Amino acid sequence: MREAYIARGYSLVSTPHIGREDLWHTSGHLENYADSMFTGMELDDAVYRLKPMNCPFHILIYRDKQRSYRDLPVRLGELGTVYRYERSGTLHGLFRVRGFTQDDAHIFCTPEQIEQEIVSCLEFAVDVLKTFGFDRYKAEISTWDGGESLKYLGTAADWEMSENALKRAVERVGLEATVVPGEAAFYGPKIDVKLLDALDRPWQLSTVQFDFNLPRRFELEYIGPDGAKHQPLMVHRALYGSVERFFGILLEHYAGAFPVWLAPVQAVVLPIADRHQEYAQKVAAELKAAGIRHEIDSRSEKINYKIREAQLQKVPYMLVAGDREAADGKVALRARKAGDLGSMPLGEALARIAQAIETRSPGE
Ligand SMILES: [Zn+2]
Repeated sequence: MREAYIARGYSLVSTPHIGREDLWHTSGHLENYADSMFTGMELDDAVYRLKPMNCPFHILIYRDKQRSYRDLPVRLGELGTVYRYERSGTLHGLFRVRGFTQDDAHIFCTPEQIEQEIVSCLEFAVDVLKTFGFDRYKAEISTWDGGESLKYLGTAADWEMSENALKRAVERVGLEATVVPGEAAFYGPKIDVKLLDALDRPWQLSTVQFDFNLPRRFELEYIGPDGAKHQPLMVHRALYGSVERFFGILLEHYAGAFPVWLAPVQAVVLPIADRHQEYAQKVAAELKAAGIRHEIDSRSEKINYKIREAQLQKVPYMLVAGDREAADGKVALRARKAGDLGSMPLGEALARIAQAIETRSPGE
């Protein structure tokens, strides 16, 4: 993910986990979001709060120096851990936790640049989803109500420009999208990408969200070609949402049977009897040297029992080691779906596993 960020012109940043209360006043979090924030801690000079979002820190980085239109777009990305006070009864597995890591980014740009920036965000999102094996998704654009309710910030021109940019970006990327009027946040329209998992369940994942509020509260600016000060456009953007929740979705989608490159344990070594332990250690050392995540099941259980258990754990590969294998430097390789792949030289088995990892194969 970090490589992909850099290739796409993001600066990777790392911001503090706590911030002074005055920062959360400026951002508006203490007025609007205090219920979801942990209580303050009094330190030397002020009261500090755990961050519920990364945005204010990214804004401070943007504001750290004067920006010209030539410096834009500024794209700041972070795998940023945030903390939210969820009531204990609402916590739910990996899906709702009190501390989680967002793949968070903020883009600051000019009105001329915004459409291309949204296109790039959507292409990045689709790329990420495809990499993890999802190929069905749809987009939803949340727009305002035309100003009827008076709850929205920004001018009619702001809304028209940003909503049009979202609609045109969706067309350019070729995503199927529905428009939901009146569903936008008070501070700007957004686009959500929802994916459908193996059981057709929709999951809300990537978001690109306009913000007319924070640039104003933090008085962000850049110097335009006319030499005057202008306010940059700002979008919040997340692709996974949170890493924890994303892995929850992956677990559901794959029902635990991860592709080899994602499996927490990619291979397990199964010595048939105690006298094969030493050879099993040697096999494990080779797996380690090849960078393959592995375990050894060295319990004195019957081999069929160990195979069944590894199968239940959905481990992609099993390397069985008995008398013949130890004598010839071989292993009997088993794959999760295909079962017995036969006896082969250890090097050949390692190459086969490494190839499955390298090509992000779903497993054999
Ligand atoms: Zn944000």
